[in-house]
Amino acid sequence: MATGPDSITLLDSLDALADWRAAQSGSVHFVPTMGNLHAGHLKLVEHAAQDGTAVIASIFVNPTQFGPGEDFERYPRTLAADLEALASAGCDAAWTPASATMYPLPEAYRFAIRAPAALADCLCGAHRPGHFDGVCGVVMRLLWQLRPERAVFGEKDYQQLLIIRRMVEDFSVPVAIDAAPTVREADGLALSSRNRYLTDSEREIAPALYRVLQALADEAAEQGPGTFDRLRRSGMERLASLGFRPEYVELRNAETLAPADGSDDRVFAAAYLGRARLIDNVAVTRQNRL
Ligand code: AMP
Repeated sequence: MATGPDSITLLDSLDALADWRAAQSGSVHFVPTMGNLHAGHLKLVEHAAQDGTAVIASIFVNPTQFGPGEDFERYPRTLAADLEALASAGCDAAWTPASATMYPLPEAYRFAIRAPAALADCLCGAHRPGHFDGVCGVVMRLLWQLRPERAVFGEKDYQQLLIIRRMVEDFSVPVAIDAAPTVREADGLALSSRNRYLTDSEREIAPALYRVLQALADEAAEQGPGTFDRLRRSGMERLASLGFRPEYVELRNAETLAPADGSDDRVFAAAYLGRARLIDNVAVTRQNRL
């Protein structure tokens, strides 16, 4: 066990983690991340810390949730800056396991979770096969290692948040899953570690993703379910005309991810700008524009 900047406790072995966990008199709250932390991650830490409970964040770039040809190798790794940021946000400990700690068995002997198709084969899952299986597998491992009372996830990755909620419900994992709203730049772009892949000119276009989603949410709220298919196609066209390569624009029910039907719906989109894949989502309601 080592003490990092601003006195955050750095844990990088299961033994050190077990000692730290045993020393916490009561529950702990948990914020899982892949590092390269920004204000969105730190909001999750602040949320986790708000009642004074000890907070532990994990930093682990999980190989099993990246597909072939995705950005696992070049995903930004900025541990020293991350530890400083966590410490100043009030995080007590950082769990930074090695891959062999998270996955002690060779792949052929490794257990895995299959996320249900109804939740995991649509939206991002349709374009990233196996992605949510990898997410579920790593989150389940982390939850067993840390045994938190509460874990906090961002609405920015809404499909992930929902799948994790359903997973802990289905397996009766004794943890509460909290959602934190998406933190955005002043111009509306959702903060993301992948925004650093944007060139200057792409960065100027990027906030239009949120604006298009807000417009679609307004139109969907006003015009009703009969228009959703047209709105979806129009969203794809609007993004393409702005210079994005849209992967999908979808209106889905916020609890089941079934096609939207006019109650509790959200608009979801993923689009490439250059080599950056951006995702965002908003609730179907009249949006308060920036
Ligand atoms: P990541 O490091 O990208 O895996 O994200 C770790 C956690 O931070 C996930 O629960 C994300 O949903 C959350 N997160 C990432 N970006 C944001 C953001 N802009 N606002 C709120 N939460 C975020």
